[in-house]
Amino acid sequence: MDKILVTGGAGFIGSHLCKRLLHEGNEVICTDNLFTGSKANIRELFQNPNFEFIRHDIIDTLHIEVDKIYNLACPASPPHYQNDPIKTIKTNILGTMNMLGIAKRLKIRVLQASTSEVYGDPDNAHHPQDESYWGNVNPIGIRSCYDEGKRVAETLCFDYHRQNGVDIKVIRIFNTYGPNMKINDGRVVSNFIVQAIKGDKITIYGNGQQTRSFCYVDDLVDGMVRLMESEPGFTGPCNIGNPSEFTMLELAEKVIKLTGSKSKIVFEPLPQDDPKQRKPDISLAKEKLNWEPKIALDEGLLKTIAYFKGVCV
Ligand code: NAD
Ligand code: UDP
Repeated sequence: MDKILVTGGAGFIGSHLCKRLLHEGNEVICTDNLFTGSKANIRELFQNPNFEFIRHDIIDTLHIEVDKIYNLACPASPPHYQNDPIKTIKTNILGTMNMLGIAKRLKIRVLQASTSEVYGDPDNAHHPQDESYWGNVNPIGIRSCYDEGKRVAETLCFDYHRQNGVDIKVIRIFNTYGPNMKINDGRVVSNFIVQAIKGDKITIYGNGQQTRSFCYVDDLVDGMVRLMESEPGFTGPCNIGNPSEFTMLELAEKVIKLTGSKSKIVFEPLPQDDPKQRKPDISLAKEKLNWEPKIALDEGLLKTIAYFKGVCV
C-alpha cells in the first residue's frame, strides 16, 4: 500500500483515479484548488479513512511526505483554461516544478498528465500521431497557454530526470470523457449530451468535419496506472487514447440517437487554432503497458448519458 498524492484529484479524471487507487488499498491525498473540480466529485471518497482532501493550489509550495505523485492539476477544457491564461501557464510551469521538487527531495516517482495538445494541429504526414512527432503548435494563440504550458511541463520533467535523476512517467492523454465532467465543462462530449438531454440546440463549431478520438475515462485511468507501475527506466512520453476516430458531426448524430433527443444541430464559428484532426498511435502503450482501450464510443456514451441524466434534473 502506497501513500499517493493526486493533484487535481477533485476534477473529472482525478476523481476517477482517486477512486481506483483507494480501491486498490492505497492511501490517497487529493489536492485541488477547486477551480474546475468539485467536492461533489469526491463526496463518496470521504467515507474511506484512507482518503484525505487538501484544498491547495499547486503553484504554491507544499510540504508533504508521499510515495508517488500523479500531477493532474490544470484546467483541461478550452473555455476554462482560456479564462485565465496566465494562471494556466503558472499551473503548468510553477506547479509542475513544485511537484518535481517534491519528487526530487523524496526520491519518488511522478506521473505528469500531458496531452495530445502537444501535437497541436497535426499535419497529414503525422496522422495518427505517434510519440516521435514534435507537433505543430502556435506559440502565441489562444490555445498556447495550455499547449505550450504542457510542452514546457514535459521539458521540465525530462530536465529533472536528466539533471537530478527524478523518476518520471509522462502520459499524453487524448480526448477523454465520462461521468464527473461538469455540466458547463465546455468540451464537446459533455456539451452535446447536456444539450441533447435539455432539448437545446446541438452546437457544432465549424462544419463538423474536424475529427477527435474519444477514450472512456475507465480505460484512460487503467492506462495511467499501468504507466505509473511500468518498468523502471520507461519514462514515456506515452500516448493513451482510443484510436477510433469520429467527426464532430458523427458524434452529434450519435448523441442525438442514443439520447432519443429532438434537438436540432446548429453550426457556430470554429474557434481559433482548433485542430482539424487527432488520433493516437497507441503502439507504444500496447508494447510497454500491454494496454488498449476496451470501451467503444457507444457504450461509453450510454454510461455518460446516464450520469448527466442524473445531474441535469
Ligand atoms: P478538470 O478540469 O476536470 O480537472 C482539473 C483539476 O485540476 C480540477 O479539479 C481543478 O480544480 C484542478 N486545478 C486546476 N488548476 C489547479 C491548480 N493551480 N492547483 C490545484 N488544482 C488545480 O480536467 P480533466 O479532464 O480531469 O484533466 C485532468 C488532467 O488531465 C489535466 O492536467 C489535463 O490537462 C489532462 N488531460 C485531460 C484530457 C481530457 O480529455 N480530459 C486530455 C488531455 C490531458
Ligand atoms: N466542439 C463543438 N461544439 C462544442 C464544443 C466543441 O463542435 O459545443 C468542437 C471543437 O471545436 C473541437 C472538438 O469539438 O473541434 C473537440 O473540442 P473539445 O473542446 O472537446 O476538445 P479539444 O478541441 O481540446 O480537443
